[in-house]
Amino acid sequence: MTKRIFRSILLVVIPVLLAGLIIISGVMYSYLTEVQEAQMLSELSLAAAGVEQKGTDYLSAVRSKDFRLTYVSSDGTVIFDTESQVSNMDNHANREEIKEALLGGSGKSSRYSATLTEQTLYYAKKLSNGNVLRISIDRASVLSLLLGVLQPIAFIFLVAIILSVIIANRISKKIVMPLNELDLDEPMKNDAYDEISPLLSRIHRQHKQISMQEESLRRKAEEFDQITSNMQEGLILLDSKNTLMSVNSAALRIFDRFCFNPGDSFLTLDRSHELRDALAQAEKDGYCETFLSRDSKEYRVNISRIDSDDKPAGYVILLSDITDKISAERSRREFTANVSHELKTPLQSIIGYSELLSNGMAKPQDIPTFTATIYKEATRLVSLIDDIIRLSQLDEGVQMQTEDISLMPLAQDIINQLSSKASEKNVSITIEGENVDVRGQFRLLSEILFNLCDNAIKYNRQNGNVAIKIWQTDQDVCFAVSDNGIGIPKEHHSRIFERFYRVDKSHSRQSGGTGLGLSIVKHAVAFHNGKISLESVPDEGTTVTVSIPK
Ligand code: ADP
Repeated sequence: MTKRIFRSILLVVIPVLLAGLIIISGVMYSYLTEVQEAQMLSELSLAAAGVEQKGTDYLSAVRSKDFRLTYVSSDGTVIFDTESQVSNMDNHANREEIKEALLGGSGKSSRYSATLTEQTLYYAKKLSNGNVLRISIDRASVLSLLLGVLQPIAFIFLVAIILSVIIANRISKKIVMPLNELDLDEPMKNDAYDEISPLLSRIHRQHKQISMQEESLRRKAEEFDQITSNMQEGLILLDSKNTLMSVNSAALRIFDRFCFNPGDSFLTLDRSHELRDALAQAEKDGYCETFLSRDSKEYRVNISRIDSDDKPAGYVILLSDITDKISAERSRREFTANVSHELKTPLQSIIGYSELLSNGMAKPQDIPTFTATIYKEATRLVSLIDDIIRLSQLDEGVQMQTEDISLMPLAQDIINQLSSKASEKNVSITIEGENVDVRGQFRLLSEILFNLCDNAIKYNRQNGNVAIKIWQTDQDVCFAVSDNGIGIPKEHHSRIFERFYRVDKSHSRQSGGTGLGLSIVKHAVAFHNGKISLESVPDEGTTVTVSIPK
């Protein structure tokens, strides 16, 4: 700004100075010329009068440094000159002023020197004797006048430049100071210059626009954060150089981090080859799917490249927890294999015995045993199929009617159903506690109690005891089935609720077990949002406790 002001000042000052100089020089020059000419004319008149009276004697007596007098005869011959030898001077008949004087009585002319720096002014007057007296004076030309004042002009210019710098500095400071003090946060509250009010109102409008855009961006960022932080899936956004831009809380949990620094490399989060290779693949193909194991969990990783203007602008990484899906798939596979096996075993024995019977190869005394075995295996098949159907219903979460059920009569009913089985082993069954009502699904609650009591008898010893206990707490209705049977070793506790899991396969088969009883119990308890717990010591007995929220 200072430079611009300086330049503007110079642009005004220099032409003004030059014009002033030229005008003043011109005026002065013409004034001086006029004065000089008037002086010359009066000098010429005096000299003419002198020459008229005394001839060349007068001229010989003239001593002037300023003027030169030349006396020329009517034919142009120089008769006398105050500065030069007449013999050296040529004929002046052709000189303009002499010609004019000879013709008209007076003449005037001026001639420049070779360098143009000097000008000689001539005035000539015709005397009464026909001769001409000429006066001449050398004077500086306008050019030499200008050259002469060059030094002071240069000095004035220098002073003008210095003054311009100082003034420009001062002016720019004066102009800039109020501008620097402008409060751009509140542009409309400033009253520095009227001229900048359109600028201030534009800044004000832009402020409003920017704050609106900021607000909408902030809202969008908040929405994005809220959506991503509540997502089950891990979400990571990277830029084209694999730099972290956003990592949601689920992704931080997966990679066992509390926070991330935007701008850090993706490697600070994960250095595994799988993800590095997958990112390289996504960079090439635009998309990649891979799988990742972290903390005994399995994740499916989808990486999508985001393009902008046909160039990779970044990547979106989505990590979905598929642990449950994988284990469900595994259990389904195992279940199918187990079901086929469990169905095949009794069927093979039915086919074998019925073949013997139909071929007439069975001895008459074996026939009752064979038919009994066929009956037993067929019954096992039916109960197995029943259990499978029950489990698949529970798996599918089929909606079932609930009602208020009194536990004591239900337990009593189940004891009655199992009494013949219990008496085979001489196992006694007792019920203790209070009669408690619970809201539940009748068939499932019967199933829970039946399976637990059935197991307590099946895996009991001769003359053993089974006790059913019913009670309630503030929140739950509870019942427990205890026996003093063979018990379950600790290492099997976590697995006995799995489908087809048995501690002792042959014992289970022999006693008609399907290996699905406790699975059904677990699911039926879960249907009631209840909890199940197991305490068991080998050779001492087992207690299974169920609590169902009121
Ligand atoms: P099963 O049809 O074989 O009885 P369950 O699912 O009911 O199948 O039980 C799984 C396994 O748990 C049984 O095979 C048995 O080994 C064990 N078990 C269940 N209840 C008892 C119990 N009260 N005492 C000892 N072992 C038990």
